[in-house]
Parts: sequence; C-alpha cells; structure tokens
Amino acid sequence: MKLIDLHTHTHASDGTDSPSALVKKAHAAALAALAVTDHDTLSGLEEAEETGRALGIRVIRGCELSTGTEHGEVHILGLWLPREAQSLQDQLVQLRRKRAERNARIVDRLRGLGLAISLEDVREVAQGESVGRPHIAEVLLRKGYVKDLRQAFVDYLGSHGKAFVPKEVLEPETAVRLLARLGATVCLAHPMLQKYPRGWLEDFTGRLAGYGLTAVEAWHSEHSEADVRACLALAKRFGLGLSGGSDYHGGNKPGICLGVGRGGLRIRLEVLEALEARRRAQGLPC
Ligand code: AMP
Ligand code: ZN
Ligand code: FE
Ligand code: FE
Repeated sequence: MKLIDLHTHTHASDGTDSPSALVKKAHAAALAALAVTDHDTLSGLEEAEETGRALGIRVIRGCELSTGTEHGEVHILGLWLPREAQSLQDQLVQLRRKRAERNARIVDRLRGLGLAISLEDVREVAQGESVGRPHIAEVLLRKGYVKDLRQAFVDYLGSHGKAFVPKEVLEPETAVRLLARLGATVCLAHPMLQKYPRGWLEDFTGRLAGYGLTAVEAWHSEHSEADVRACLALAKRFGLGLSGGSDYHGGNKPGICLGVGRGGLRIRLEVLEALEARRRAQGLPC
C-alpha cells in the first residue's frame, strides 16, 4: 500500500526541518508523495521540489492560510499552487508584515512582564520568512523562562496567556477565492480540531464551496475515526473531494510524525489520485 502526506511544515514557517530534510524524511518513510504547506510563505517549495526530483518522490506545492470566523480560526490549504502566483505572493507579503507587527507587540508585552527577550532573539531562532509564536516560544524555552513549549503557550502566548496578541487573518471567502482563482485545490484543513455549534460547519462549508472550496481534509493527526467519518459525510454533502495529512512540524509538534501522525494515520495514494482526477475534470494541471 503506497502512502502519502498532504500537510507538512518546514522551517520556512514554524516547522523545524529544512525543506530538503523534510523530503528526505518522506523518502526514508517510503511515502509516494507529500505536499509542503507552510503558513504564509512559498519560500520552501523550490528546495523541496528539487530534493523530490533527486530522490524520486512527488512534491506538491502548497501553503496554509489562517482565516477568522465568529467561532475562531479556520485554516485553508492550497494544493497544486502554480509557479506563477503573484496575487497570492502579494497577499502573503501583507500577512507576513502583519505577523512582524504582531510579533513586535508580543515581545513588547513579554518585556513588560520582565522577560529579557528581543526581536533579534526571535529572528535568530526563525530560519524562514514566516515568523510566529512557535519561534517566540522557542526563545522563551532557550532562555529558561519556561520548561517546555507548551508552558510558553499556556503562560504567555496562547489565547489565555499574559502576552497574547490576536493575529490579523483573512476572511475565509477571500482566502478560498484567491486560491481557487489560481487553480489550486482548495482544502478545508482539519475541520474537526474545534467544536462548533450544531450545523455551523455544514453551513460554513456550503458557503465556501460557492467560493471555490474543492476538498475537505478528512485524515489528520488530531482527527479520531468519528471525526474522519464526519468529514467524509461533510464532503459528500457538498460534492467535495477528500485530502489528508499529518500536519508535521518536526520538533515543534513532538508527538506528530511525518505520514503516520500520532502513529495510526494512513493516507493512501488513491486519495491523491482522486484529487488529481478532479483537477483533470476541471481542466487543471497536476
Ligand atoms: P501563529 O501563527 O504565530 O499564531 O502560531 C500558530 C502556531 O502555534 C500553530 O501552528 C501551532 O503550531 C502553535 N501553537 C498554537 N497553540 C499552541 C499550544 N497551545 N501549544 C503549542 N503550540 C501551539
Ligand atoms: Zn504551524
Ligand atoms: Fe492548521
Ligand atoms: Fe498546518
């Protein structure tokens, strides 16, 4: 049985592996394909593709965008991003600028709490252009202010933390439309990570389908078997395709392994083939 992973992060955003190291791990794990889906940047894609070509493993160009709803963040994955994607690149520049402003505010708050941390420290930890809270958490850990990354979020960076600053994000419709217009496969990421009021996710998904949403990420490291079944029903109801990925972040999400997630994740090559068949039916390249 050939397996794949369509949701992974590198140190271009908040993963800890370089793009080439990630692809090498995927090759070592005998995966047939993986999508690289960093937050708010495409800067890891070329290195990943190059390593993929050298090793004979398929690399799909992707990204992950955060969007805001009345019930919290919803993440959208774009898969099969074209090489020429100026409208997306323009939007990503803006999102990274907002990240930089937010990071500065978080660091200010931490300093106000008496922690000796600077933006320079954060830049040293972050190896890519998309910088966020996991990098700040790593600085707090290295300086001994917290005992692990989890505590950094609980005490300081999480939504109930003392230095929390909300992130400015896109409207879901904007993100979906932007990716759909580029000819990407647009996928609702890990929809079961949050609990929504009854019926809300269905209405929301139906609305996004109207803007060009094409798939639901049914298989994910944090989805239970019941969650997967709920995603299959959700996709079926709106005629959407199915995707799956581990959301691997290297050392930034310790329990989560490439391909297999927390151990039991299995995403078959047929999932990729079905998404490709949908793309061909829409006249989109694979
Ligand atoms: P940001 O995009 O800067 O808001 O950072 C979001 C990232 O922080 C997510 O992708 C998670 O990987 C990580 N994160 C969020 N909450 C926690 C938490 N409670 N513990 C550890 N990591 C977290
Ligand atoms: Zn992340
Ligand atoms: Fe996500
Ligand atoms: Fe992710």
